[in-house]
Amino acid sequence: MQLLRPIIRAITMTSTTPQPADLVHAMPDPALVVDAQGVVTLANEQAIEVLEAAPVGRHLSATLRVPAVLEAIAAATAGEGGASVDYEVRVPVPRSFRAHVSCLGEGKGALVTLRDLTREQQIERMRADFVANASHELRTPLAALSGFLETIQGAAKADPKAQEKFLGLMKSQAERMRRLIDDLLSLSRIEMNEHVRPSGEVDLSQVAAHVRDVLSGMAREFDCTITVETDGPVVVAGSRDELVQVIQNLAENALKYGSSGKLVEIIVRRNGEWAEVSVRDHGPGIAEQHIPRLTERFYRVNVQDSRARGGTGLGLAIVKHIVNRHRGRLVITSELGNGSTFMMRLPVKG
Ligand code: ADP
Repeated sequence: MQLLRPIIRAITMTSTTPQPADLVHAMPDPALVVDAQGVVTLANEQAIEVLEAAPVGRHLSATLRVPAVLEAIAAATAGEGGASVDYEVRVPVPRSFRAHVSCLGEGKGALVTLRDLTREQQIERMRADFVANASHELRTPLAALSGFLETIQGAAKADPKAQEKFLGLMKSQAERMRRLIDDLLSLSRIEMNEHVRPSGEVDLSQVAAHVRDVLSGMAREFDCTITVETDGPVVVAGSRDELVQVIQNLAENALKYGSSGKLVEIIVRRNGEWAEVSVRDHGPGIAEQHIPRLTERFYRVNVQDSRARGGTGLGLAIVKHIVNRHRGRLVITSELGNGSTFMMRLPVKG
């Protein structure tokens, strides 16, 4: 028995101590181990997926043709320490990675972990684009305001009639800036809360009737009628203010862009487990290629047309974020010449 003890201990150790392969397979990121010659000895599933080939038993250069990474591995296996290398692949789709090479001890090879940076870089690019777009959108009315001011102080100094005209134009530019700032603030507030599910109880039929009343003046201006059709109360879990904003933005768009159809219909229905609110106009409609992009910030089918109607290009981005926060979907259908329907689907409150 005394003699057997070390053997039993050895067996217990080998079965319970994690092996290098266990560690590599447990890593959440793509990871592989190469020996001192650069041949891959271990690779986890994620690495096989990223390299799109089974690399074990082959030199790493057969599956990862990035000279800088191979040089970092050669340096690490020679005992020169670890390094990080960023690289891009073009096929089958462009992606960016960061390879981190750690030395496993002189002559013992290296551990290579890969991190997919594609999404992070995309978000960073979108953020930079957004800041550039927002600044540009604000700079345009600001430049117009400065121009009108100069005219009032210069050429129109002694001309009260011209001054009156320029002051009117300045007012409309200042209003445009205010609308933009209001929309930017709305968007940022909603984005901040997007992961928090709203908790109130809202009857969408009542919200639709409220929006019709609020927009009755605007409808008259556009010589249009807004009708509301409902099945009675349709209740969802949500924020009333935000759902008013969704239906109001959609109905305002229907008036701004679709008033030639003379009729805007707001239809509230319960469809199984879903509450559906459709805002339908009979205007010119939207060409198919624009539909998937309408909810992008600052995307407009026609920028001049949108500006002339007081648009900021943020209305549908706000709608999309509110609908996401309510765990719903926005479905847009349109046909040129036949009007558009924007439908919000939300889970019914059980
Ligand atoms: P905007 O402030 O420009 O109205 P939105 O985000 O609300 O911004 O809408 C984006 C674009 O979608 C608009 O500029 C317009 O080109 C198009 N659009 C929105 N609603 C309609 C509609 N009912 N009919 C036709 N085009 C529409």
